Amino acid sequence: MPDGNEKLLRTQSLVQIMGQHLECLPDLLTCLGTGYDMRELGSALGARWFESIVQSFFGAHFAEMRHLLHVTSTLITGSCARQMLTGQGATPNDLNLITPLGSAEILYASLVGDLQYERFEVCARPNYAFTKVVKGFTRFRKGEMIITISEAEGDNLFKVVVSSPTTVDMTVMTPGGLVMFYPAWTLSKDNVGCMAKDGFRVERSTDFLGEDCGKACPALWRSVLDHGEQMLMLEWDERFSIKKVVDGSQTMWCLIVHCENDLCAYNPKNNPRSRQLMPHRTPSGITEIEVQEARIAQHWPDYQGILQGVLYATSAKKAHLVSIPLRDGVDSLVDMSQLDVSHWVDQLGPERLISSTGQCRKTYNVIADIPEGGTLPGYTFFREHPLVYGPPNALIREVGRITSNADNILGNVLVVKHTRHMKNELMDCEEDNIPWIGIIKQCVRDSTFWY
Ligand SMILES: [Zn+2]
Repeated sequence: MPDGNEKLLRTQSLVQIMGQHLECLPDLLTCLGTGYDMRELGSALGARWFESIVQSFFGAHFAEMRHLLHVTSTLITGSCARQMLTGQGATPNDLNLITPLGSAEILYASLVGDLQYERFEVCARPNYAFTKVVKGFTRFRKGEMIITISEAEGDNLFKVVVSSPTTVDMTVMTPGGLVMFYPAWTLSKDNVGCMAKDGFRVERSTDFLGEDCGKACPALWRSVLDHGEQMLMLEWDERFSIKKVVDGSQTMWCLIVHCENDLCAYNPKNNPRSRQLMPHRTPSGITEIEVQEARIAQHWPDYQGILQGVLYATSAKKAHLVSIPLRDGVDSLVDMSQLDVSHWVDQLGPERLISSTGQCRKTYNVIADIPEGGTLPGYTFFREHPLVYGPPNALIREVGRITSNADNILGNVLVVKHTRHMKNELMDCEEDNIPWIGIIKQCVRDSTFWY
């Protein structure tokens, strides 16, 4: 049996040998899953790869900058993240960082003060794909090394990530983990987007698949939290966890409005029964509600589930029960954000490709109207995006006894029912058990939701 020192040294050399032979990060992370010793080895190797990629930017300040990236919740994207993923090619000389609103100044101060970088290309602009989600864009240089900092419009860094011009640019990392979306394409070096990319083939549609897109269709909505084949998360050092960043992301997106793959069921050109896409006016009265119901019933591919909700349409005489399907591509409901409420309320507004999971919705757990013996209900209200400037809702004006034009609720309002405090345990609304007036009055009084 080897003594402790011998074992340690053998482990060290094994790390070196693995480093030379593993092709890319997924190989390494496969090792992480194969037992305690291998996990230790894989972690050490991951940390070493990370350091070797980033070290040349930070020099003697590596530990300090790693700390700064962590405390500011900054993500690394671009060529350094791609290098970490594929392990191929020369070490990059440009480091791209995405930082939450308000954190950029801290990073600037360290780069200029301690690391002696200088700001350059003062008028530089980010790629046009980022214009709505990036507030500040600053570039720094020291010799050959270039660091670019994109400051997000808010705390949500994934809004920036999923706005990237190609799917390979959606790869991001922390000092301890890496996330990539559409991994099957990225790992095979096929990507969807609009920009050339070294080492990757960029396609403008998914025609290159030569088959139906399936669940990967770029026209399907997905959440950052949709794990499985749509996303690959690799973590080698949980002290710098990327999982926690992902868990707090609250972001939904689709890459394109229409799929253009000739073989795809979600391409409206070869499937007239696919979803009627935005922008379209949401139904305002009973005839339009019936038309929309017929569209949902005829939709193909078949929706995998339909929930009954209550719609307060702007010119309806009463509240109507309506069908709310699961989003295209969703097989079973895990989260309320998988409901396709956009048949009834336009929640996206001017932004057609990105959304927050909790946007324009609010849950009320009412005290009144408790049914005897049954499950206690909660209700979630979905309203239309303020920037669609929906017409005043005459029905809610009446039931909510609104008297002033300034207090009018604008646009349609959709209500879904669920177990109280359990937003993902949804149930059908029924005509006779909805305490209509009580809830809508409470909701209308909540000015934080409507204005
Ligand atoms: Zn498709």
